[in-house]
Order: sequence, then structure tokens, then C-alpha cells
Amino acid sequence: MQTSLILIKPDGVQRRLVGRILTRFEEKGLQIVGARFMCIPLETAEQHYAAHKERPFYPGLVAYMTSSPVLALALRGKNSIAVIRKMLGATFGSQAEPGTIRGDFAISDGYNLVHASDSPEAAEKELELFFPEGTVEFDMRDTPWVYDVGSDLR
Ligand code: UDP
Ligand code: MG
Repeated sequence: MQTSLILIKPDGVQRRLVGRILTRFEEKGLQIVGARFMCIPLETAEQHYAAHKERPFYPGLVAYMTSSPVLALALRGKNSIAVIRKMLGATFGSQAEPGTIRGDFAISDGYNLVHASDSPEAAEKELELFFPEGTVEFDMRDTPWVYDVGSDLR
């Protein structure tokens, strides 16, 4: 099992797409283990996107991410980091395949509605940044039906 850090970005909130985006993750069978509606502090946005610090789009990206609230989510599931990245689609809304979240709802390249961790290492760092007090541990009663009863859930 993996936990991924998701951000429904400012455009997702302002365009009233929070519910529809969250629904897609829920319907897929992912478990919500953290949710936090928040304005991202400038230093947190800078840290979150530190890997892009030298890129020309970095100042605009930080400004975008701090321009309005986001919904930060921690989502758990089997192989969830890769599964969620696939659900998001390609980075640029204009290039994302129909059927993906960005492909269905975004046409902008920068304003692409949602962030998701791209590796277990990134997820660990990002979860610490957005959920420093940890996630919420509980059993989902439908697990045997979402997976198969004999599934090895590690
Ligand atoms: N971004 C941008 N212009 C670019 C590349 C990226 O505005 O040329 C923004 C976009 O919002 C993207 C974020 O920077 O989601 C982080 O870029 P990354 O390459 O990590 O894409 P992601 O992991 O979000 O698919
Ligand atoms: Mg990225």
C-alpha cells in the first residue's frame, strides 16, 4: 500500500471542481487518509516545488499555487502513486488524454488543476510538508470488495 500527496490546485477550487475531482479518486477505490483545505504558505510552495527552482516557470508556479486555497489530500491504495499519476494525465492540459482528470477538465498548460506525488520518495517528503501531524489510520470496510479478498495488501 502507498500513500500519495494530492493537491487540488487553486484553479480546481475557483472553478468549483473540487467535488468532481475528489469523486474520481473515491470512485477508483482510493482511501482518503488526510484532507486539509488551506492557503499554502509561500515557503511551503517554494519547498514543494524546489526541484523546479531554476526553471523559467518557477516564479509563476509559486505565485499560482499561493494565489488561492487548495485542498490537500492524502490518498492510500495499492500502487496508488502510479495509479493516481495515470489518473491525472500528462502535465499540460492541452496534451492530456481524454478520460484523465487534466484531459477532461483542463486546457491550460500551467493551470492543470491537480498535483500528485511522482515517486515514493517525493510522496514521503510531500506528506511531511502538508500533513506534518501524520495521516488518519482507519479500516475501510469495503477493502475486500475494492481489491480481491485474498489480495496481498502491503
Ligand atoms: N508547469 C508550468 N510550465 C511548464 C511545466 C510545468 O507551468 O512548462 C507547472 C504545472 O502547473 C505543473 C507544475 O509546474 O503541474 C509542476 O511541473 P511538473 O513537471 O512537476 O509536472 P506535474 O508533476 O505536475 O505533472
Ligand atoms: Mg511534478
